[in-house]
Amino acid sequence: MKNKIALVVGGSRGIGKAIALKLAQSGFDIWLTYKGNHEAAQKAKAEVEALGKACELFCFDIADFEGTKAALEKRADSDVPYAVVYNAGIARDNLFVWMSKDEWDQVINTNLNGFYNVMHTVIFPMLREKRGRIVAISSTSGQVGQAGQVNYSAAKAGLIGAVKALAREVGKKNILVNVVAPGVIETEMIKDLPVDKILPLIPMGRFGKVEEVASIVEYLCREDIYIHGQTIGVNGGLAI
Ligand code: NDP
Repeated sequence: MKNKIALVVGGSRGIGKAIALKLAQSGFDIWLTYKGNHEAAQKAKAEVEALGKACELFCFDIADFEGTKAALEKRADSDVPYAVVYNAGIARDNLFVWMSKDEWDQVINTNLNGFYNVMHTVIFPMLREKRGRIVAISSTSGQVGQAGQVNYSAAKAGLIGAVKALAREVGKKNILVNVVAPGVIETEMIKDLPVDKILPLIPMGRFGKVEEVASIVEYLCREDIYIHGQTIGVNGGLAI
């Protein structure tokens, strides 16, 4: 029997890379997508392969529907991924009053419309197989709202709604769909945040590690789960 495939969208850096490595450790071959940082993608591929698993790279912009289809459609029809982790995301923070249309559009197009672009491309083959796991990476910002992130919070809350509705559609086909909502995780995305202001808001008193997000994602990709349509916070108590 062929190895199971996990499609990790935005798997070249940060949380996505940790997810790709964790899923490889648990036995998946990896399809790893990224936007343009070839060096990071090659490095992630080498790290997956060092774990004894295959890693195929796909370079495309998830905000571009036609480009996403062209990159994935044929491939996902012949070898259907068992797990899809929709992890890619960007932030363009600004107070709403100063937020440009471009900042709004970039974040919605990538973080939310990208979910449609990727999932609509792979969902039909997954339904045909009658098995699968989908995990979307949202954010605490999408659960509670965050000042300076009206665009990001809207997109991340949209993902939670999309997952709940999709879960109602595909559950009977043995495709389980869930959300993981990280709080503040040590990655490049948070390098400019005011640490002294944020840390006191986190009951655990520290930021999260990418591996701590990856382990729950890996759990949600297992076969022996009964979790469906849920949002699991990984936030050290930031949202209780
Ligand atoms: P990174 O910026 O470290 O990595 C983002 C990944 O997504 C990269 O692989 C990048 O590819 C890819 N990507 C970005 N934009 C696109 C695009 N338009 N098309 C295709 N691929 C794209 O992100 P993080 O690891 O910090 O975050 C991962 C996810 O977790 C995001 O959805 C983020 O919103 C969410 N999150 C992060 C938190 C944190 O504290 N870091 C907290 C809560 C949620 P490339 O390398 O080629 O650019």
